[in-house]
Amino acid sequence: MKFFIGNWKMFGVPKSINILNKINSFYSKDKNRNKYRVIMTPPYTLIESYAKNFKNKKISIGSQNCYQKEQFSSDTAAVSPYMLRSVGAKYTLVGHSDNRGEGDTNAMLKDKVKYALKNNLKVVFCIGENKSEKKNKKTLNVLKNQLTKVLEKKFNKSNIIVAYEPIWSIGTGKIPTLLELEKTTIYIKKVLKNIFKKNSPAVLYGGSVDGSNVKIFKEIKEIDGFLIGGASKSSKKFIDIIKNYYR
Ligand code: PEP
Repeated sequence: MKFFIGNWKMFGVPKSINILNKINSFYSKDKNRNKYRVIMTPPYTLIESYAKNFKNKKISIGSQNCYQKEQFSSDTAAVSPYMLRSVGAKYTLVGHSDNRGEGDTNAMLKDKVKYALKNNLKVVFCIGENKSEKKNKKTLNVLKNQLTKVLEKKFNKSNIIVAYEPIWSIGTGKIPTLLELEKTTIYIKKVLKNIFKKNSPAVLYGGSVDGSNVKIFKEIKEIDGFLIGGASKSSKKFIDIIKNYYR
């Protein structure tokens, strides 16, 4: 099973649902539809209405983040996994580099994963090295740390997806070479197998994925799908990624 997950970031108002309606109608008729899942993560403000709209449809709705406490608390503006699940979210991103940059620590991320899973949200756990870590050949070490400091064997592996998103590639148009990405993905799966003591969860790639470079990524059989930022805000661009992946 492959995954095409869209991350809208700070984008979208109620009428932006038109974008998802178009993606959903392509997805429901696509001859390859049983080979993949489409998940979209709009901002918090749209989760309830979008999840209602797509309740019995093909697309699933997720959240871009969640707070590291389970249900209710006195943390202003925080939204818990319990609250997200109660309005129909099925997935949540955890550890996006934007949120790590805002101060999410490994301890906070571990609680986010724990409480999200406890509330039946599937977790898309994001990892990735920055430009200077890459330059200093620290990539594999950084990724290993990000994985082993947060994920634990006792977490339900089948509800976890890992998204490898090199920070220098997000929104920049820059992508890793085929060889680099293949090596890194194989390494991530090795670390995950070690953590879970059996098969690795799915591992996605994210960072400037578009309709043309997806053909390159498709050569790497270890990649189980994509986390798509910029291109997920256009139905045409998002659909082109899926079409070209299966072409
Ligand atoms: C992201 O922010 O998760 C992302 C992958 O963005 P983009 O596709 O725009 O690089």
